[in-house]
Amino acid sequence: MIKITNPADCCGCTACASICNHDAITMTPDALGFFYPEVDASKCTDCGLCEKVCSFNDNYDTSLNLTEPVAYGARQKNIDEVMRSRSGAVFAAISDYILDIGGIVYGAGYTDHFRVVHKRATTKEERDEFRGSKYVQSDMNTIFRQVKKDLKDGLTVLFSGTPCQTSGLNSYVGSKLRNNLVLIDLVCHGVPGPYLWRDYIAYLEKKEGASIVWVNFRDKEQFGWKAHKETFKFNMGGAK
Ligand SMILES: Cc1cc2nc3c(=O)[nH]c(=O)nc-3n(C[C@H](O)[C@H](O)[C@H](O)COP(=O)(O)OP(=O)(O)OC[C@H]3O[C@@H](n4cnc5c(N)ncnc54)[C@H](O)[C@@H]3O)c2cc1C
Ligand code: SF4
Ligand code: SF4
Repeated sequence: MIKITNPADCCGCTACASICNHDAITMTPDALGFFYPEVDASKCTDCGLCEKVCSFNDNYDTSLNLTEPVAYGARQKNIDEVMRSRSGAVFAAISDYILDIGGIVYGAGYTDHFRVVHKRATTKEERDEFRGSKYVQSDMNTIFRQVKKDLKDGLTVLFSGTPCQTSGLNSYVGSKLRNNLVLIDLVCHGVPGPYLWRDYIAYLEKKEGASIVWVNFRDKEQFGWKAHKETFKFNMGGAK
């Protein structure tokens, strides 16, 4: 069974919890809100699947990797699209195509007062919530199982996430179902802990005496492409 002795050997992707047929693994937050697998030994049959699927495993399947990476630079021509995304809006362009052919898009959105979670979208309106970087570890919840179900149902699926999340999903889905799965990972310097974000929101709301109703981790319209400033709107109105 999976046992994390070094926190750096786990990104909280949920591949191990998703593959366990006995639901023996619960993803449990640590003091900073980072998710780690916790095994209920009374349910575990020691089948070893959870260790095998983990992308931090030395035997992680790289057979589908290109021998040489192929690199292109791109951004959308439509400046409105670019302004609504964090970077060049390539995610929006590719996800537009997937939705146009009847596919499903998964990405990072919000729930419960700006808690960052992965969600499923079937329309462009739902997908739009995924635009923009959220600099927090996203809670994957049962998303991996939903992705596999969609693929088994014959749907085309686009999943967008951090490189460690996409590699975990890639491993969990397996080579047989990979044909209809499009993975987009982002250039990533790492994710801050969810509780840091939760507590920062609480601190700001206390300081201002008002509730936050809108957030943008990097507001291009106000601060351009390069600035790294979080922007908040409070229910008293105005941006901070
Ligand atoms: C945690 C994090 C670290 C980053 N580090 C770097 C960096 O070091 N250098 C750099 O150049 N750029 C970094 N980025 C920016 C990233 O490369 C851009 O977001 C990307 O280029 C998006 O381009 P876009 O305009 O096509 O996407 P957008 O339309 O802005 O869409 C953003 C996409 O990112 C996904 N996403 C957003 N937040 C998260 C999250 N918390 N977890 C998983 N997926 C998420 C969404 O699902 C969506 O698909 C980082 C982004 C994140 C989320
Ligand atoms: S599969 Fe993912 S969540 Fe499980 S131990 Fe490996 S990195 Fe952590
Ligand atoms: S060894 Fe098998 S049964 Fe035990 S936690 Fe891992 S996947 Fe579940």
